Amino acid sequence: MSPATNKIPGKRTVLFWLAGLITLSFLLIMTGISLYQSWQKEEKLQHQQRSYYQGQLQDVLHRSLWMVELDISRLATSPLLERHLLQPNSSTQTLLQEVYLSLADVRPVYDQIRLIDTEGNEQIRINRADDEAPYVLPANALQNKAHRYYVAEGMQLLEGNIYVSPLDLNIEHKQVELPFKPMLRIVQPVYLHGKRYGQVVINYRAEELLKQLDNALPQPLQSILINDRGQWLHGNEEQDWSFMFEAHSGLSQQRPALWQQIKAQPTGQITLGQDCLAYAWTHYGSEHVVSPRWLIGFREIGSPCNGLEAQHQSRAAQLLGAGTLAGFMVLFGWHQLRSRRLRLYHRLLVNEQRLRLVTNEMGNGVIMVDAQGCARWMNPEAERLLGWKESEVVGRYLHDIIHVTAEGESLDRDECLTHRALRTGQRQHRERDYLCTREGTVMPVSFTVSPLHQLESGGAVITFNDDREKAITENRLRQQAETDELTGSLNRRAILRHVEQLISTNVRFGVIMFDLDHFKQVNDNYGHGVGDKILIEATRTVQELLRSHDNFGRIGGEEFLLVIDNLNADDLCKLAERIRSRLECHRCEVGDQSLQVTASFGVAMHRPSETLGELLARADEVLYQAKGRGRNVVVAVD
Ligand code: GH3
Ligand code: MG
Ligand code: MG
Repeated sequence: MSPATNKIPGKRTVLFWLAGLITLSFLLIMTGISLYQSWQKEEKLQHQQRSYYQGQLQDVLHRSLWMVELDISRLATSPLLERHLLQPNSSTQTLLQEVYLSLADVRPVYDQIRLIDTEGNEQIRINRADDEAPYVLPANALQNKAHRYYVAEGMQLLEGNIYVSPLDLNIEHKQVELPFKPMLRIVQPVYLHGKRYGQVVINYRAEELLKQLDNALPQPLQSILINDRGQWLHGNEEQDWSFMFEAHSGLSQQRPALWQQIKAQPTGQITLGQDCLAYAWTHYGSEHVVSPRWLIGFREIGSPCNGLEAQHQSRAAQLLGAGTLAGFMVLFGWHQLRSRRLRLYHRLLVNEQRLRLVTNEMGNGVIMVDAQGCARWMNPEAERLLGWKESEVVGRYLHDIIHVTAEGESLDRDECLTHRALRTGQRQHRERDYLCTREGTVMPVSFTVSPLHQLESGGAVITFNDDREKAITENRLRQQAETDELTGSLNRRAILRHVEQLISTNVRFGVIMFDLDHFKQVNDNYGHGVGDKILIEATRTVQELLRSHDNFGRIGGEEFLLVIDNLNADDLCKLAERIRSRLECHRCEVGDQSLQVTASFGVAMHRPSETLGELLARADEVLYQAKGRGRNVVVAVD
């Protein structure tokens, strides 16, 4: 049985599943790692994009306010203002008004430019009615603004400092002006030689700033602005500016916990409804600018903050699920196929085992070969007969190892019955075939090969019997049947059959027929026993002159035939003459007597297409002539 039989299928199944699961896990882990890395990159890219947009927004805010800071600084520290404050007169007043007016002219976002004294009285005021050209407010329209918070803040400022007010809507006559006019007040105090003289105030209209915030972002991002009390200034249509009408509004009121969380972090992102809100706290300027803090950022409408992550998680779960399922299906399919193969293989082994048991009982040598003619197994009887161990033969091409001719030569493949049975699918049988044993002796066998059509893998079963004893018996019987009992030469039937064979093969040959002379007298004079002895000795004498393959037989009482091939007529006559001479010289010792016997010879070469009878008749005729010529002579046919 092949070594594979010893393996335990159960153990192999466990190993199979273990190896399959390890491979599957490995593939899933590798896929997971590669996906994780690509998703990390995607998330990093998204983070970088958000930071970039954040920077853009802050740039817009800072650039706009920086322009106001430059303008207000120039106004608050201008030499013209210094001259006017030290020596106020109408011409410097007018000049200042013109400077303010021209500034308002080039800065449409400046709603008002004012010079306010230390008491809060407006000294100069440039107004702009809606989108029309700016104008100087007449002196009688100037007001005291000491009660306004930004004026009060301005009063507190040290020299060179700037105050930026919170962003809110403009109020006219205690009413929110319509349409909404988002406004910032930027204040810088005016100092001369360390003494405060008042302040310059610029009312900055922030619509343009808010528009620029939107323009700084691609669709569908929406910029947002929230003040440090959590009130919406921009980016939330329902909530923007609602704090101007209702004190308890905004994120700080609606989502206090979330607001605390936002306040605690300089940057971050939160999910509001279906949107992701990315934010950063910012305020304008440096240490000499007093500015409120704003929460600036943008909303990604319809995509929550962890959208990408959630998307990746769900994709990962899907991939994992699909991968695992596919992997298990492949493994299961594979397992089914393997199980089926194992089952078939097992069944085959069981059948082989049965066959082995049966064939052992039968006493035949049995060898099973596969479709290629290689040995699969052999039974102990085959081992015993051939001398080969099964393990030495299994897997080898059987024909080359054991199949030979009667002479022990290698047998032509086309003559091999195994090969023929595998090729034709037909059962093959030969009564006498020859196998070579491990020791190199040729064993005559009867040989049968049956193709195994039932087996998916094909192959054939060889059965053989040891015919050595049978062959010996057959040989002996054949020899007996062909041998003349008295002389040991071939008998008539055998020698004549041999002549017939030569006739059929077209070999050139000739015959020498001879008959002992006056043999009747020998019998009469010395008895039949002496006659027999002379017959035996004459045969031996002739045989001594023959080649091993020359055929010699007794065809009548004291009449013999020699069949000689590959010799011409002359040589045949010479041979007959040599035999005649030797017989003539031979003496047969009988008691104290020494007897001489001669013979007469007829020689004939076989003629083409001549029959046995014709040939023998011609030989007999010349033999008769030899008798006629006085005997003890050779006569050949002309
Ligand atoms: P010829 O020279 O003309 O041949 O004379 P012959 O006497 O030999 O011829 P014939 O045919 O007259 O006699 C043959 C004799 O051979 C007769 C027979 O007794 C004898 N003979 C035949 N077979 C045997 C045998 O097996 N043993 C013995 N001892 N004698 C045999
Ligand atoms: Mg005779
Ligand atoms: Mg005779």
